[in-house]
Amino acid sequence: MLVFKFGGASVKSAAAVRNIVNILGMYQEPVVIVISAMGKTTNALERLIDAFFSRHVKKLQKEMELLRSYHLEILEDLFPDKDHRAHGVIENVFDELSGRLNQEPSMNYDYDYDQLIGYGELLSTRIIALYLEESGLRAKWIDIRNSLKTDNTFREGRVNWELSGKLVKKNFVFNGERFLVTQGFLASNVNNQTVSLGREGSDYTAAILAHILNAESVTIWKDVPGVLNADPKYFDDTILLEKLSYLDAIELAYYGTGVIHPKTIKPLQNKNIKLFVRSFLEPEAPGTLIGNFAYEKLVPSFIFKMDQVLIRISPHDFSFIAENNLEIIYGILHKNGLKINLQQTSAVSFQVVVNNDKRKVRLVVDELEEHFKVSYETGLELVTIRYFDDATIERVMINKTLLLEQRGVQNIQLLVRDLG
Ligand code: ASP
Ligand code: MG
Repeated sequence: MLVFKFGGASVKSAAAVRNIVNILGMYQEPVVIVISAMGKTTNALERLIDAFFSRHVKKLQKEMELLRSYHLEILEDLFPDKDHRAHGVIENVFDELSGRLNQEPSMNYDYDYDQLIGYGELLSTRIIALYLEESGLRAKWIDIRNSLKTDNTFREGRVNWELSGKLVKKNFVFNGERFLVTQGFLASNVNNQTVSLGREGSDYTAAILAHILNAESVTIWKDVPGVLNADPKYFDDTILLEKLSYLDAIELAYYGTGVIHPKTIKPLQNKNIKLFVRSFLEPEAPGTLIGNFAYEKLVPSFIFKMDQVLIRISPHDFSFIAENNLEIIYGILHKNGLKINLQQTSAVSFQVVVNNDKRKVRLVVDELEEHFKVSYETGLELVTIRYFDDATIERVMINKTLLLEQRGVQNIQLLVRDLG
């Protein structure tokens, strides 16, 4: 049995959905198919959620209208027959969403977010499962929330492996079907409230299912040829990494290559399940294979994180940054869900680099200011180089000022300000 994960770009239009049917036609095995929301739907839903939470009725209606028309256009293209039952099924999903939007927001943003954000995946999986059936492929739609169980950490659910293991094994069975179609990114708590796994979490879903079901391999279908040594947005001479060890994959994912979600590798590594990253535009091409390979120094890989914020924290009384202060700082960052991309301690200050999530940064800075002197700088870039050497450092430092540097054996991280 195989697990495939199709991300937003691979299901962004009717043509893209048709392409999936072609890809599935290349395989003989039963496949569990994990699907993300279509195109940029999750971003659109985030705008809708903000409008809902701030009671911005006009904006909410506009976002809802855009969401509907985008999906209905794809649906009508795939199912031109207006009497096809697909239209009723999708209408029901929209009715359910409207029902929720007609209720008052609760006091808990993260809870409300998770009750709404999942509609992207609920719509995409419904549409695609129906279309596979329509194309003569025996497919079944599965609501993953009945199987994948987490704690109550909304927006970053922590998986209950024991319970999920039992439920996934019970519910993900092929009964004459060739394909089981389900949602990435979603899960639920024991009260059946939707809990999401964090942005870009669908890769992780695929890995969890593969682990529990002992899949032969996982394939993540992307709009890039595989894992490259740099983002083609920044470099025009990128190299495809044909084979990667689990460790290299974890490191690259952790520092933010964006090609694979960092949590994806561990569940696969623990059961020695291979992971392919392939292009849905060129499904015959080999892509990248991640597996249990021996250590080998690879070509340098570059990871760029743009729009970074450097927060400088120092005690009011010029006392040293000691453990008790660090505990307060980490506590505030953790409570607000802001992840540290780089940190550096000196005798009298502590510096952290985080993504520019404006809402969270504001909350964190306000709270830090109750205890410390705080300043911050936005608009910075964080460059990580794995398997760095002097030439690669020089290459990324052109026209940049260095603010912070952290050097390990294999990796170097450079926080820079762009001068150009
Ligand atoms: N649709 C979700 C997101 O865009 C999950 C995913 O795509 O992995 O974050
Ligand atoms: Mg995605």
